[in-house]
Amino acid sequence: MAASNTRIDKRKKAPAKAKTKSGGRARKWVYDFSEGNTNMKDLLGGKGANLAEMTNLGLPVPPGFTITTQACNAYRAASRRFPVGLVEQVAQHLRKLENRMGRRLGDAHDPLLVSVRSGAKFSMPGMMDTVLNVGLNDESVEGLAKQTSDDRFAWDSYRRLLQMFGKTVMGVDGERFEHALDAAKQNARATTDTGLNAEDLEALVEDFKGIIRAETKRDFPQDPVEQLHMGIEAVFGSWDNRRAQDYRRKNRISDDLGTAVNVQTMVFGNRGDDSGTGVVFTRDPATGEKIPTGDYLANAQGEDVVAGIRNTLPVAQMEETQPAAWRALVKNLNRLERHFRDMCDVEFTVEQGALWMLQTRVGKRTAQAEWIIAADMADERLINKDAGVLRLTPNRLDELFKPVINRDAKEKATTIARGLNASPGAAVGQVVFSADEAQARARDGAKVILVRRETTPDDYHGMVASQGILTSAGGTNSHAAVVARGEGIPAVCGADAIRVDREGKKFTVGGTTVNESDWITIDGTDGTVYADQLPLEPSLLERALDGDTQAQSSKLWKSYERFMARADQKRRLKVRANADTPDQSTNARRRGAEGIGLCRTEHMFLGEERVAAVRRMILAESDADERAAYEELLPLQREDFVGIFRAMNGLPVTVRLLDPPLHEFLPDQVQLAIEVALAEKSRIKPKDFAEKKELLAAVNRLHETNPMLGLRGVRLGILKPGLYAMQVRAIVEAACRVKAEGGKPVVEIMIPLVATREELSQMREELEPVAGEAMKAAGQKIPILFGTMIEVPRAAVTAAEIAEVADFFSFGTNDLTQMAFGFSRDDIGKFLAQYEERKLVPANPFVTIDPGVGALMRMAVEQGRSANAHIHFGICGEHGGEDASVKFCHEIGLDYVSCSPFRIPTARLAAGQAALGATESASK
Ligand code: ADP
Ligand code: MG
Ligand code: MG
Repeated sequence: MAASNTRIDKRKKAPAKAKTKSGGRARKWVYDFSEGNTNMKDLLGGKGANLAEMTNLGLPVPPGFTITTQACNAYRAASRRFPVGLVEQVAQHLRKLENRMGRRLGDAHDPLLVSVRSGAKFSMPGMMDTVLNVGLNDESVEGLAKQTSDDRFAWDSYRRLLQMFGKTVMGVDGERFEHALDAAKQNARATTDTGLNAEDLEALVEDFKGIIRAETKRDFPQDPVEQLHMGIEAVFGSWDNRRAQDYRRKNRISDDLGTAVNVQTMVFGNRGDDSGTGVVFTRDPATGEKIPTGDYLANAQGEDVVAGIRNTLPVAQMEETQPAAWRALVKNLNRLERHFRDMCDVEFTVEQGALWMLQTRVGKRTAQAEWIIAADMADERLINKDAGVLRLTPNRLDELFKPVINRDAKEKATTIARGLNASPGAAVGQVVFSADEAQARARDGAKVILVRRETTPDDYHGMVASQGILTSAGGTNSHAAVVARGEGIPAVCGADAIRVDREGKKFTVGGTTVNESDWITIDGTDGTVYADQLPLEPSLLERALDGDTQAQSSKLWKSYERFMARADQKRRLKVRANADTPDQSTNARRRGAEGIGLCRTEHMFLGEERVAAVRRMILAESDADERAAYEELLPLQREDFVGIFRAMNGLPVTVRLLDPPLHEFLPDQVQLAIEVALAEKSRIKPKDFAEKKELLAAVNRLHETNPMLGLRGVRLGILKPGLYAMQVRAIVEAACRVKAEGGKPVVEIMIPLVATREELSQMREELEPVAGEAMKAAGQKIPILFGTMIEVPRAAVTAAEIAEVADFFSFGTNDLTQMAFGFSRDDIGKFLAQYEERKLVPANPFVTIDPGVGALMRMAVEQGRSANAHIHFGICGEHGGEDASVKFCHEIGLDYVSCSPFRIPTARLAAGQAALGATESASK
């Protein structure tokens, strides 16, 4: 601890100008709460910036100061050394604080105590460290006892310091303290920590000091300033701990931000029954309802509420037990909402009846609450409609369409336990008891539900791999609940009838025992648990979409309609669907699709009746054979297109001609070879032997080492001339039929995998006459566009040439990403996680458009537009339904995005937000 030996600098210079020993000027590393505001989150972290904001609003905030994120980063960059000037500035601010409070840190008679709190720009719940009661030591604990005339309180505070400091600063395994605490409770025949008296706690302090000595080979530091410096270092260091890193990766928060450190005067919730601590949301974060919601714990300090150590009370009960503090709290909550114009999440402490505000931030909420709160706040005129649209999260919208438990099944099923409805949605899965097990099984495709007494930040990886989470302890703001809501995972928490036996890999509740791998169902919307695999069914929004009038009268649906209408009104991008069948097309339209951006035709080659004809086509030995096969396929395909054009009447349908390599329509090569070899050995040949042999020869002929880079896409069209012609005829004949019925088909024919201008122009030369003939025969005229997918890098960089012969481009970003990186999408699962972890890629490029792939797209759009003023642009890769990617498509000027039907609302909302000026940054 080199830093802690530095003497306290007594010079009274303004910190910004503090001269360093080398004569340079040190940066301003420390800000008093009164110097900051909510816009300074980069520098002061979210907690520090909002403590400052509340201070300046005049709310009761214990005084303190914030050490900047820059100081943290300087410390990290200098291999864990405090930057020049920091120790001095901390000393100056501490002196000011001491003067203001009229106490000195760790004073033997009347000590000032402080907390040392982490706080990064973005909230990372429980991921980093905080230490309370810094400044207590063997002498000041006596002083505190005398000053407060409360021995129990003083020793309780000291044991808490030793426990937190020992664990987070000195690295002692927290369980060591837990065990000692349990033993002390047993000795005192106490069921909770409040049952321990001053003597018990004093003895416990000795035990804790012994544990620290034994585990770290050093004594707990008695010097308060050394405690403070070590605390600051520990908070800085916690930025780089494993779970914080995991959390940042998952939430796309940059590692470079660093954390601030807040040093704040302690207030005490553990001073008896007229004291306590709580967490509260200004509105219900699960349902969005406008009532303060949270947990309160009397005679407790800090983390006790979230740790599920004792059972908390609903915060509204303070109205009876702490009426004055409750009134003050409600007043402050209203004040904060009006100020931030959003739902806030607040930490507070009551010390002998007096309320103290310890933290606030805009609160996390369920996907449902997000919509309800936005609508209510628009009604209350706290925000306008556009602000409402901007605060919704497109990527979470599909949660609201997630299935719920079938009502009848739910009524019949027996509830084995009830807990808090911590995170909505229903989940069915097999029970596991550890995060590692959850992760391992989920990787193998199993659906699991993680069951724990309570989760800790170390469980994060297993929680996000689970279908649902069930805990027996902890309130609506416990770690499990907060993470589950943030991640959109259904969760039931605090189901306190459940006894979790982690070692025995089972849980019991009443007379029921549930073992690992048994199926259960949880309902995070009402907090119920079932020892069955219950059937799930459509959600409220899904039912409303389906025309269910009761669902349509719900507040959620009304809010959904209202903001989606606004997003639709504002957006420039059109939204189409990737749909291959009439059913999918109808479904997509219901969700707001304005066309089909990708109708794949490969499924039209599958199905028993078609396979024979397809094989005949592939195996044909003469042109006549081949033509005969096409004649067979033609009417079948035509019927498919008729259905689709009818379903999408009046809206554009982009049909992609056959794309996959032909071997996909033939039996597996190895399998076939084995069958033929076996048949050859046997004396009596099976009657289809000749056929099989012929088939094998064809399969061998068609075999490719890299089929995804082989004979597929436009290459098929070139080498099998009748194939695309047949498809075009089927498309155009279908369109003519639908038009003759009085419909309005809008047809775009898309040729995949084009790399050169010649490929497309030769295909057009062959196919346009086919379309013309079909229309002539039907006596109809329909404008038909021909275009291509841009999915080969060469096409993107020569887009100007290709655009001369294309009516449209559609970015096939799945292939484009594969080929731009040379990543096989089917195999990348083996190493992508490592790539993300080591930041070798900015994000999973198959989920969010990668900047490199994006550069290819941007180039193709610019070139394409300058070569052909009438060309239009779309995207049909998976990315077309992802928030950040949609916003990127808006930015580079595409005309539409196309995505799978269930992502359409997400794309509509994201496109609306893009038009309203939202840019999705890499970190949130
Ligand atoms: P986290 O970011 O994990 O919530 P915090 O820094 O907010 O960590 O602190 C953990 C707990 O300690 C919170 O409940 C907080 O309200 C409480 N706490 C922090 N500082 C003080 C203080 N000065 N006085 C009383 N309680 C405090
Ligand atoms: Mg906190
Ligand atoms: Mg492709």
